Amino acid sequence: MSDAMVSAAQRDVPPQYCDVIVIGAGPAGLSTATALRESGVGSVVVLDRESQAGGIPRHCGNPPFGMREFKRILTGPQYAAYLTKRAREKGVEIYLNCSVIALHSQGQLTISTVLGAMQISAKRVVICTGVRETPRSTRLVSGQRPLGISTTGALQSMVYLKGKRPFKRPIIVGTELVAFSALLTCRKANIKPVAMIEQAGKTSAYGVCDLLPRIMGVKLYKNCQLLSIEGSQRVSAVNIMTADGSTRRIDCDGVLFSGQFTAEASLIRMSHLAFDEQTGLPVVDQFGQCSDAHYYAVGNLLHPVETAGWCWQEGQIAAANISQSLLEPSKCERKEQQGIALTLCSDKVSYITPQRFSNVDLANLSGSFQLRFVKAAKGILSVQQGGAVLWSKKDNYLPHRRILIPFQSIENKVGFESNQALEIHFTEQ
Ligand SMILES: Cc1cc2nc3c(=O)[nH]c(=O)nc-3n(C[C@H](O)[C@H](O)[C@H](O)COP(=O)(O)OP(=O)(O)OC[C@H]3O[C@@H](n4cnc5c(N)ncnc54)[C@H](O)[C@@H]3O)c2cc1C
Repeated sequence: MSDAMVSAAQRDVPPQYCDVIVIGAGPAGLSTATALRESGVGSVVVLDRESQAGGIPRHCGNPPFGMREFKRILTGPQYAAYLTKRAREKGVEIYLNCSVIALHSQGQLTISTVLGAMQISAKRVVICTGVRETPRSTRLVSGQRPLGISTTGALQSMVYLKGKRPFKRPIIVGTELVAFSALLTCRKANIKPVAMIEQAGKTSAYGVCDLLPRIMGVKLYKNCQLLSIEGSQRVSAVNIMTADGSTRRIDCDGVLFSGQFTAEASLIRMSHLAFDEQTGLPVVDQFGQCSDAHYYAVGNLLHPVETAGWCWQEGQIAAANISQSLLEPSKCERKEQQGIALTLCSDKVSYITPQRFSNVDLANLSGSFQLRFVKAAKGILSVQQGGAVLWSKKDNYLPHRRILIPFQSIENKVGFESNQALEIHFTEQ
């Protein structure tokens, strides 16, 4: 590398030390970083492995983004650009093409940059690495391995960021909200899906979404399973099992797997930070603080999957907690040591966050436990401790819908002395 190239590359490399490092320049990360600067934190650095800031909205060409937080209707790329501009205007330093590869104690990170691997550190590190969809390999779909198999996220980045069309007549697997936004992406790229299939008897997203495939002339199969994929070079067909148990072969040139979100948590899984194997999520308390007081986690990493506006809002709350922790570091460390665990005692619930409840600062408590059901279920959801019911609600719970249990509904009932875990139960009725 010439001297000029080295000095240009050095400008793309973050400082070795700063007050707060945010990992991930998506809505959660940019919101947290901007609000931290607004609250007077000196140096805030955001790192992202991509060459452009903005996270997933960069490749979601469809509106509406920004309604909750800015009362404006923006497309994903407009929203990503707006968040990035606001962050830079507030003095947030954003470093791109910068992957965090390891987290160490005391806020030390190993990162990979254009100049190679290096160590940097901060008083606080905020992990905002988001979610990803489950690809074909993890879904264990049998058949051949031809070209033309993708996730919605990959399709969106091909269409919106690279102007490419990976297939012309795919089948879409899944009916979460993102699958319907995949339909819109297909329409934009002049791709004509041949069918959409859903394993359950109902669409995962809102029932009204069923109208979209109907309007677009795409057949929607429910109670339907993808059996195998055919094709030597490129996908040529799929075999499905329909509701009546019969199999059917559908000609197509691509398979689009949508949804089944997983937290992008491998950094945490490989680190010293506590990780909940049952839900695949990092363990945080109600302030978003991880098991090491130097680390926080915010955004979709904690709850696969919420909207950009929801994650942005969480960034604002997290920033208030983090700037407070910088002002009162001893209180922050007490939060790390004190508190009780939350245990999921029902396989109907896919996750709960936070998984730790700290007894520090209960007077200033706002926010809620968040959870989602795996399948539709009617019955009583409850929070219990040592057999005592602290909160309960009977309802008809639908899958993939955000369910909130306000912290305030249990705060005065929790016994911290016994150190007994809070348990989340569900009784079908
Ligand atoms: C395919 C898809 C479509 C979606 N469509 C919509 C939609 O239309 N509307 C909506 O509201 N929500 C949508 N969502 C939900 C979306 O996740 C949220 O909108 C929002 O982007 C979440 O913000 P976040 O900051 O938590 O994560 P992300 O936006 O995912 O940002 C995470 C960032 O972390 C970076 N990162 C990860 N690991 C590292 C590392 N080790 N080092 C450095 N950087 C790293 C990533 O590059 C990324 O930029 C969609 C999600 C998916 C997967």
